[in-house]
Amino acid sequence: MSRGSLFIVSGPSGTGKGTVCSELIKCENIFLSISATTRNMRVGEKEGVTYFYTTEEKFKKMISDGQMLEYASYNGNYYGTPKKAVEDMLEAGKNVILEIEVQGALKVKEKMPEAILIFVVPPSIAELKKRLIYRGREDRDEIKRRIGEASREFSQLPKYNYVVVNDELQRCVNEVLDIINATNEKQRIIERLLNELKESVNYDD
Ligand code: 5GP
Repeated sequence: MSRGSLFIVSGPSGTGKGTVCSELIKCENIFLSISATTRNMRVGEKEGVTYFYTTEEKFKKMISDGQMLEYASYNGNYYGTPKKAVEDMLEAGKNVILEIEVQGALKVKEKMPEAILIFVVPPSIAELKKRLIYRGREDRDEIKRRIGEASREFSQLPKYNYVVVNDELQRCVNEVLDIINATNEKQRIIERLLNELKESVNYDD
């Protein structure tokens, strides 16, 4: 079985990338990595489903034990991707999605250049602000901080392989699915041609 592909989905808070990823994992052979975080659990979230919630001490121990593929500090909390689960899924030939912020995404790209970086953007900054206020999850100061964070994240946009606009959920999901399918097809073609080359080298006529 061929190795799976790694996709990283980033985008400022409020772009709806979480909803996009929830839709993607309804498709066959697409799986989401569950991150560890030191931030508090929010209403509606579940241990081991949304995140693995942990203390700063345990999080730092996971880093020093080499268990993290990447980690970053965002808004005063740590977030990180447990390495083994991702490796196991890739080994099993799955398409794996990391929904992570830009610092972490770029660290993964350095370690695994084959990873495909996808940046989800809102249709406009006014719309982003509206979505953050409307969902009512964060207070005013937190919204201000997240918009400030967004401008830092946008500056890294040129390093991403793809940018998709989340103007309409299903259209955006379909666009990401096209990227995943095209990546898988590229992988299949490469493997087939490499196999054919190997066979033709062994052929002694
Ligand atoms: P939230 O607190 O809204 O759940 O997440 C805040 C930010 O942290 C989001 O941009 C989210 O994508 C990012 N994030 C979630 N998990 C990880 C992770 O494992 N590593 C990194 N670098 N960022 C993460």
